[in-house]
Amino acid sequence: MTAKEMYEEMAARYIKKTGNIDPLRKIYEKYVTNFDAMVEKISKMDFANEILAPPLITAISADDKKLLKKILIKTLPIDSINAHSIKVNDSEYLVVLNERLLSLIYTYQEIQFVSAQKYLKGERDCKFSKYYSPLIDCYLTPNSNKTLPVFDLSYLSMQLRLMIGYNSIAKEQFVLAHELAHIFLNHFDEADKKTFKEKEFEADIQALRWMANIVEHREIPIELSTCVEIFMLFHLIECNLGFPDKDATHPASIERLTNIYQNCGDVLSNEDKEFIGSMIMNACDIDSFIIE
Ligand SMILES: [Zn+2]
Repeated sequence: MTAKEMYEEMAARYIKKTGNIDPLRKIYEKYVTNFDAMVEKISKMDFANEILAPPLITAISADDKKLLKKILIKTLPIDSINAHSIKVNDSEYLVVLNERLLSLIYTYQEIQFVSAQKYLKGERDCKFSKYYSPLIDCYLTPNSNKTLPVFDLSYLSMQLRLMIGYNSIAKEQFVLAHELAHIFLNHFDEADKKTFKEKEFEADIQALRWMANIVEHREIPIELSTCVEIFMLFHLIECNLGFPDKDATHPASIERLTNIYQNCGDVLSNEDKEFIGSMIMNACDIDSFIIE
């Protein structure tokens, strides 16, 4: 079987299962009403291959790229918050990004900008949970056809709205980089005796190093801490839906964040370190993340 055949088989299975759910398309439609022809163009693009992947692939060094040859990158309308890489055969890999994960990241970013603006405008009685509960709701009921919440962005400046896009793309690229890192680091080799947890930590470090190349070379104001802030979203989900237990193979988000803080000091700026340090501190206050 080829990667393309495997993808087509999965696509047929999931499209059948989830009907017409296409959260990304909904987000683009919203974009199109808010923005103009530029965004309409984006909405017709293959998001993973035309928007997420190219800057990342460009940022990977020529030597590293040799190990990333035959990878098919695809999105699927799967209603779970996940992304994964699959070894298809001896020479081909498939990376699947679930659309639900991508749109969740976008909505999370939107909530942050909307709530920050309200806070700055003096609406300080707004409860944290008022904004974040729809996210948990969507995640808790993954097969209920619930769509992600739509916020009124009309009072945000064009610049802020673009920042929402840039910030979410940075996080989505980090997710893609993490999946590519599993392939690059040979994690599918059966002789590799590392634990799942160790592989996760390794993939995060590699992904951040590639992201550091992107951040260094592009003109938009994205910091590395913006990428790893995705762990605060996962932490929010864990606080409300349960952490992996102590013997679980899967690391908790806070462990993944700490791993990056401890092992990527050479690529993180002082501001990144400060921001990541404060995220770790905030994350420890689990009660403040619980949504009632
Ligand atoms: Zn992984």
